[in-house]
Amino acid sequence: MFEKIFLLMVLLISTSTFAAEKIRSYQVSENPLKMDKIARQFEVVQKLVHGFEVYVLEEDVEAFLKIAPKAVLLEENVHASELQNLEKSTSQYRNFAKVESDLKTITVTYPKLATLDTYGASKAGHGLFSLKLSTGGENKPKLMVTAATHGDELITTEVLFVLTNELLAGYGKDSRLTKILDGRDIYIIPVVSPDSFEARERYVQRQDPNRSYPWPENPTNKTVDVIGAMINYTNQIKFTGSLDLHAYGRLVMYPWGYTKKAPENKGDIGVFKDIVQTMAKDNQYTVGQISTTIYVAEGSSADYFYWKTGTRAIAAEIGREKIPNYSKIPSIVNESREMVWTFLEYFN
Ligand SMILES: [Zn+2]
Repeated sequence: MFEKIFLLMVLLISTSTFAAEKIRSYQVSENPLKMDKIARQFEVVQKLVHGFEVYVLEEDVEAFLKIAPKAVLLEENVHASELQNLEKSTSQYRNFAKVESDLKTITVTYPKLATLDTYGASKAGHGLFSLKLSTGGENKPKLMVTAATHGDELITTEVLFVLTNELLAGYGKDSRLTKILDGRDIYIIPVVSPDSFEARERYVQRQDPNRSYPWPENPTNKTVDVIGAMINYTNQIKFTGSLDLHAYGRLVMYPWGYTKKAPENKGDIGVFKDIVQTMAKDNQYTVGQISTTIYVAEGSSADYFYWKTGTRAIAAEIGREKIPNYSKIPSIVNESREMVWTFLEYFN
């Protein structure tokens, strides 16, 4: 009897570990006015042949269906299939402790190239780590590459680690990688949101971190802790360029997200178009402005960095899954590599 209860408890604990946050996915095709209303409250994740796919937290389903009563349920729990892949590969995908120890290993392996900076702490007390790659010298472009703003997009962190290690291992051996490192200071942030990364969840403090930056029409938007720390960090460093990795969709995009209007500053739109076209030359990802490529999205990182510090801020949606079977990682690294190198090379 006790054994049975014990087994049941183990089962409950193990199945609930990754199931705390339930997100439903809906297909919505409404008129533009209604779509705008939906996009302000929920996350439009991709354009479909007919309409759009929208994520809705289970607790918000009722409110959502009031606005979009004709929405068609696509998936009861968007994490389910991804989590099956995670379970199969569970010893391989990094948890946050491994992220931290791997970052420290890099600084020990490449003491002349890599230093670890902590720019804050998450609500649960995890360090917010930024790995600075620099060969010294002044006045170089400062570039930032971030992953796992959404804690369930585990592939982004894995790809970023592989590429960071390649870049460092190539210094002094590969002329292209040596040039990249010599010409710019690169800040690698493999996990923007450690608490939701640990939980393998998309949202943090019940909010979408990539909708919780302030934006020009809402300069006082209330944000979550980890994004607050990111805001302070980026305003202090003022990056020349930034690349925020998400999954999935095979897209490379630039601001604005909050409006369908193009960036107003003269010349910026041409530069942004040039950056994303260069980045997507090899992998043939779809390029464009966030708001017109997916849908209007208020409070994203790209908008904030561009708006506040003039950063050439790019968002990329890599691959076709958030947590692919681990064996697929090399192929996603392959399709991302040239895109990341050309992003870094763009700034000199
Ligand atoms: Zn994302």
